[in-house]
Amino acid sequence: MSSDHSFLNDVNQMFSDAAQLMSMEEGLANKINVCNASYITRLGVRLRGKMYTFEGWRSVHSNHPSPAKGGIRYAPYADLDEVEALAALMTYKCALMDIPFGGSKGALKIDPSEWEPHELERITRRFAQELARHDFLSPSQNVPAPDVGTNETTMIWIADEYRRMKSGDINALACVTGKPLAMGGIEGRIEATGRGVQYGIQEFFRHPQDLARTGLPDGLSGRTVVIQGLGNVGYHAAKFLSLEDGCRIIAVIERDGVVRNPDGLDIDALKAHVTATGGVAGFAGGTHDADGKAALTDACDILIPAALESVITKDNAPHVKARLIVEAANGPITYDANTILRDRGIVVIPDLFANAGGVTVSYFEWVKNLTHIPFGLMERRRDERGHRVLTQSIEHMTGRSFPTETAQELMSGTREIDLVRSGLDDK
Ligand code: GLU
Repeated sequence: MSSDHSFLNDVNQMFSDAAQLMSMEEGLANKINVCNASYITRLGVRLRGKMYTFEGWRSVHSNHPSPAKGGIRYAPYADLDEVEALAALMTYKCALMDIPFGGSKGALKIDPSEWEPHELERITRRFAQELARHDFLSPSQNVPAPDVGTNETTMIWIADEYRRMKSGDINALACVTGKPLAMGGIEGRIEATGRGVQYGIQEFFRHPQDLARTGLPDGLSGRTVVIQGLGNVGYHAAKFLSLEDGCRIIAVIERDGVVRNPDGLDIDALKAHVTATGGVAGFAGGTHDADGKAALTDACDILIPAALESVITKDNAPHVKARLIVEAANGPITYDANTILRDRGIVVIPDLFANAGGVTVSYFEWVKNLTHIPFGLMERRRDERGHRVLTQSIEHMTGRSFPTETAQELMSGTREIDLVRSGLDDK
């Protein structure tokens, strides 16, 4: 990425192109383009015997439908421009998926690996207090979720802090999504974004006309894949594509380089290695090279950047050999690179669609929290108790026993209630 490059400009430019296609009034397009509000905090936390100041942001791009939704990232490189660009992408992502959320994003300028968990908890709770005090954290106005550098533990610290601050709010837990299952989370949220990447690719391969543009043969089985990032999104996408679709993951790029294996990498073994050592170097199941970025132009069928924005640029786009690029990260292809790839006939499945699985499942978590009904509970109750309740009430009304089979037929809709034959009209 060149130093004069800006992720925010890229997102703005892509939006302007789209707005022109719609012949939208310029003033309206400009309004939609910019973030409605951005909050900056410099919060102090006393740790290790001294006061540390942390800079954080939360931007709301749109709160047309409320609440505004989007992750919070913890990263040493974070800045306001990045947060605003990511917030805008959340608006468009939710609109595309027909999810009634506006777009928001937040970040704290911090390297989480430098802090102990109990220290991160204190910092996170302070951040949550600041966000809540300024209405940038609330079940009805702004609902964060995990992103780079944060996870379900971070989310439950935020939820718990909010719950303490608003002890009378019965919906307090709905102030964040991506919580642990036992604390108001929802099954499948952790793997949701990776699952969405897999489903997006499967769907693309189901459409012969789209597939023909790539020149790739039918079927995902045997397709070679290069993935950048073995975090939550990259790991799950790689795992599902290799184990369930028969793809061969021939290279995984991480912070400390790339590990390659032309026969396919064992993703779970590699993930265990990365968790234990912090990187891909030294993994026995492949060959390591410290120049990770170079693998973005490796020969493969599908390239999946699943780490950070702006990694495919005007410098490496001319050399990309993949026929299909799937934007599992937010904004991994710069505006200039996108033009180059299009001219070269390389097909891109864009981030708005490819990585929308996370926020889609977040929506169901939020709905579940607000209804206070665990999914499946009503159905289970109906199935387990339905027959018994129906039989008992009919027995009560008629004063005589009623055949269970008839009750079952009535429940399943295969039989209409016959008042005369059932004796219900006796009274
Ligand atoms: N951080 C994820 C994203 O970029 C999830 C956002 C959410 O669930 O609100 O889409």
